[in-house]
Amino acid sequence: MRPISARILEIVPETPTVRTLRFDHSLDPVPGQYLMVWVRGVDEVPMSISYRDGITVQLVGEATREIFDLEVGESLGLRGPLGNGFTLSGEKILLIGGGVGAAPLALLGEAAAEEGVEVSTLLGSRCCDEILFRERFERIGELVMTTDDGSQGICGRASAGLPALHLQEFDQIYLCGPEPMMADIIGRCPGMETKIQASIDRYFKCGMGICGSCCLDPSGIRVCIEGPVFRADQLVGTEFGRYKRGASGLKIERR
Ligand SMILES: Cc1cc2nc3c(=O)[nH]c(=O)nc-3n(C[C@H](O)[C@H](O)[C@H](O)COP(=O)(O)OP(=O)(O)OC[C@H]3O[C@@H](n4cnc5c(N)ncnc54)[C@H](O)[C@@H]3O)c2cc1C
Repeated sequence: MRPISARILEIVPETPTVRTLRFDHSLDPVPGQYLMVWVRGVDEVPMSISYRDGITVQLVGEATREIFDLEVGESLGLRGPLGNGFTLSGEKILLIGGGVGAAPLALLGEAAAEEGVEVSTLLGSRCCDEILFRERFERIGELVMTTDDGSQGICGRASAGLPALHLQEFDQIYLCGPEPMMADIIGRCPGMETKIQASIDRYFKCGMGICGSCCLDPSGIRVCIEGPVFRADQLVGTEFGRYKRGASGLKIERR
């Protein structure tokens, strides 16, 4: 698939470390799908689709710095939508997002609400300044917030918000965020693995299933093609929650 050149129509600062870019192209995604974003002269990096015509980027390194330096009217190369996306099912669903992991969940929640599905959200953030898409989630249903420092909502990690929700009532639970958070939540929901879908993050080079850098041990399943969304029971017994591989293929242990 060739990249399209997408012009930036709007840049929205969301938090001190996160901004949204809206493009002159509608991407027509299944929520949970991603784009390979070609930052000319620097790198091509995976980004979830957060609006039908947009991405939401957290500043972490070289490529994201370059994206932050772009202005309205400039352009990026976009390849996608890629990957499988979330499967929407049931009448009452729970979204659990951590940090910039809220990006694909907001699009999913809006699509679900449009279809008459009852949506609740548990949103974990480092502090009140880093809460992403609060208004988008409030608009579609109940929102429970946690912050690591207690500056908004319940004090603690996202799992500290679980007692405020009746997990058994939900037909489906959707996760996206830091892997320790997702592994922790799956571990707290024994017997519910087939009702949980998680979007997971691995090092992507090609985004077309060739290079193998995003494969999960031991099966070799490719996160860029068969994922990035997996049912939790598909992740049991894999490297998920224990380690991932960096750019060179070396293991990076989870701490
Ligand atoms: C399917 C998928 C969807 C994604 N969706 C989004 C999204 O919607 N928004 C978004 O902001 N990011 C998203 N990411 C992560 C994003 O691809 C990386 O943050 C990006 O590639 C980093 O590139 P960089 O060159 O700026 O950082 P690098 O220069 O490669 O890394 C700089 C430093 O940041 C660290 N780092 C790299 N990636 C991450 C990370 N994900 N979290 C924390 N630290 C990191 C590195 O270990 C390194 O220390 C997604 C990843 C995947 C696989």
